[in-house]
Amino acid sequence: MDIKALIREIPDFPKPGIVFKDITTLLQDPAGLKYTIDLLAEKCGAFAPDYIVGMESRGFIFGTPLAYRMGAGFIPVRKPGKLPAAVHSVEYELEYGTDCLEMHKDAFTTGCRILIVDDLIATGGTAGATAKLVQNIGCELVGCAFVIELTALKGRQRLPDVPIVTLVEY
Ligand code: 5GP
Repeated sequence: MDIKALIREIPDFPKPGIVFKDITTLLQDPAGLKYTIDLLAEKCGAFAPDYIVGMESRGFIFGTPLAYRMGAGFIPVRKPGKLPAAVHSVEYELEYGTDCLEMHKDAFTTGCRILIVDDLIATGGTAGATAKLVQNIGCELVGCAFVIELTALKGRQRLPDVPIVTLVEY
């Protein structure tokens, strides 16, 4: 199945010059959605994660069915102020300024195996910060998986030395 054919490109969104990769067209296609989750599960099977960590908000969409399929738990990483219990936070650099991501302090225990999942890796800022959060807590980051990789932005360079799975590249 051609996953790329189901991803819509929207020019000048969210600002001029950016060609946004719209995954809603992939999600709404029953066969495409199933194929994408099954392929991620197949490619990530050897990682045997205890938990999948997915980033707000499109990481939730792919991460949760993947966790279900792989028999793992799912842990959300959210923007500041959204999680109700005590959190660990990490700050990361944006093009202008900084942003912050949070996860619940009691979400997992030291030494558990974590797979990070998001829809897309661009500069690697989001996934790199999430990797720090996971590793600071003393968990074992066993891999990262993305449906889409924007290769020109070299996001991989901001990730630790773990296996990286991607399904389509631009
Ligand atoms: P990065 O931190 O690697 O620069 O950006 C990746 C994050 O931004 C991901 O959480 C992803 O959801 C979002 N993102 C950036 N550009 C796009 C895009 O063109 N399409 C989609 N679906 N997400 C994007």
